[in-house]
Amino acid sequence: MSDVQAGERGSGEAQAWIGLGSNLDGPHERIVQALAALERLPLTRLESASRRYASRPVGPQDQPDFVNAVAAVRTRLSPLALLDQLQALEQQHRRVRERHWGPRTLDLDLLLYAKERWQHPRLTLPHPEMARRAFVLLPLAEIAATLVLPDGRRVAEAADELAMGLAADDVRAV
Ligand code: ATP
Ligand code: CA
Ligand code: CA
Repeated sequence: MSDVQAGERGSGEAQAWIGLGSNLDGPHERIVQALAALERLPLTRLESASRRYASRPVGPQDQPDFVNAVAAVRTRLSPLALLDQLQALEQQHRRVRERHWGPRTLDLDLLLYAKERWQHPRLTLPHPEMARRAFVLLPLAEIAATLVLPDGRRVAEAADELAMGLAADDVRAV
């Protein structure tokens, strides 16, 4: 029998980055609660978290602004086991999937997991949209400015480039 638990990686801790978003029913409080919940995940420690950012919705505009943040964790959970935990937290916020990119109480995206690259029905790593989204890169730049993205750019550089194309209140720390 292996002494590695189900869902546990065999080989030490991995660093992972998680994007948080909410635009329904008290989004600021939900993001604060979700960060606290990340601290309590099994085999995982919360290393750092960005401030909260308010951002205009992607896709349908007839919905409230989002509150976003990014967190860094160190975990012994495998990528899929971490995704299971994130989806369980979404369910605790009674997230209902109605329409694509529509309003939601809590969205937790696994942005990066170490240097892993995945094309799995449940999990694409790195998150395919992360480098195009200011509401991901601006908070990520706060906690991981020198991190190198899959395209070779540093997060701070990519965030600056995206920020140049933004209106002043598109994505703002709150
Ligand atoms: P987007 O991924 O463009 O931000 P979304 O967050 O609105 O869109 P969801 O409805 O939350 O999309 O998720 C749809 C599915 O995406 C989930 O069931 C999940 O299995 C899958 N998925 C694939 N890659 C990831 C990832 N890196 N992080 C979280 N979910 C992922
Ligand atoms: Ca998302
Ligand atoms: Ca998601």
